[in-house]
Amino acid sequence: MTNIEISVTTDYKKRANDYVHEVYDLVKKRNPDEKEFLQATREIFDSLRPVFIKHPEYIKNGILERITEPERIIQFRVAWEDDQGKVHVNRGYRVQFNSDLGPYKGGIRFHPSVNSSIMKFLAFEQIFKNALTGQPIGGGKGGADFDPKGKSEREIMRFTQSFTTELSKYIGPDVDVPAGDIGVGRREIGYMFGQYNRLKGGYEAGVFTGKDPNHGGSLGRKEATGYGTVYFVDEMLKAKNLSFKGKTVIVSGSGNVSIYAMEKAMQLGAKVVACSDSDGYIYDRNGIDLDLVKQLKEVENKRIWEYTKEHPEAEYHEDRSKIWSIKCDIALPCATQNELDEIAAHMLVANGVIAIGEGANMPCTLEAIDLFQEHEVLFAPAKAANAGGVAVSAMEMSQNSMRLSWTVEEVDERLQAVMKNIYASCIDAAERFGHPGNIVVGANIAGFLKVADAMVAHGIN
Ligand code: GLU
Repeated sequence: MTNIEISVTTDYKKRANDYVHEVYDLVKKRNPDEKEFLQATREIFDSLRPVFIKHPEYIKNGILERITEPERIIQFRVAWEDDQGKVHVNRGYRVQFNSDLGPYKGGIRFHPSVNSSIMKFLAFEQIFKNALTGQPIGGGKGGADFDPKGKSEREIMRFTQSFTTELSKYIGPDVDVPAGDIGVGRREIGYMFGQYNRLKGGYEAGVFTGKDPNHGGSLGRKEATGYGTVYFVDEMLKAKNLSFKGKTVIVSGSGNVSIYAMEKAMQLGAKVVACSDSDGYIYDRNGIDLDLVKQLKEVENKRIWEYTKEHPEAEYHEDRSKIWSIKCDIALPCATQNELDEIAAHMLVANGVIAIGEGANMPCTLEAIDLFQEHEVLFAPAKAANAGGVAVSAMEMSQNSMRLSWTVEEVDERLQAVMKNIYASCIDAAERFGHPGNIVVGANIAGFLKVADAMVAHGIN
């Protein structure tokens, strides 16, 4: 390199660094109390420096400033009556973050922890995750600080209907297509879909995804996030001549993502020894009895400790963060954000973990991710690894538009292809931008490029 070339490169580097810093400071100033949102933006920003060195046109187009500000946030009152006739008020949200690649797409979460920071981080992650699937979907997320725990079926119906009455004004098959997330499954989607159609006086099949396959849903949607996570981790293992076969696996959570991650890992020959719920975890050294977990969680709506009633040889512990102290080869955090911190990461590393796959959204803290990378633990980040759910949601939208249904085999084949593709784009982007093998950086860059190009093409506004 000549001296001139070196100084030009340093110049570009400085400009890219300054840009990332400046915009991050701006985001921090604008959202001072939104810790989860700042964590999610920070993780992406850290990966993007090499992109701005190669593509100064993104700086010129103010992509980072624009991409970190939601297109629209809707916040609303949800009033509902319990079985005793008492009135309650919850807060509902829909964050319509980015629509450059398609209609806003993302789940609805019902959980007492829901607030604007959590909604925004989830919607922000969704932009890049959805872009990685290669399907025409933008990023959004919604929810309410409603706690379904302990509520009757009718209370859940009334709450969900009230929530949808307001939500229905802002969504539509070509505008914004919600689905499920924590606390929202097939049943709640059914109530939302019914209420939406009632209010609109029609049948708009593609307005929600995650519907019952008997009433407009896609086969394989329920299994898709968990299966997809395992397919992705399997790709990552294969690249190192490894596999799930004979491995000991821990999967946190016992909801939709966790159950089907366990199922697929078992199908691929792994032994899953632990899972959890928000009260505690079970450790069954003989291997988790998945039929029992399904019965407890999908049918009877019970707590996970009841597992030990049928399997007294299994252990139940209340501190769910200690699930990560169990020795394992592969850990799949599939419960919720920030469930795996630096302390947990230390325990896993000390016990010789070889791979982590994030089934939940942002389950590992930034410090935990750094530690895994320092110790060369294979790491599959959420926005790539858990994209299978939304990918099959987009397939549900396609099937709804065509008014036909694919077989479960067809959906699964497409899901596997999507996950393989995402893995390949992450590896390719990481390589091209100077971080070979780093899937965190690769996922952030590959997702970002797709959205940024569309934003440049669509002009500034
Ligand atoms: N809530 C899921 C996610 O975090 C699925 C979203 C969807 O299917 O739209 O990706």
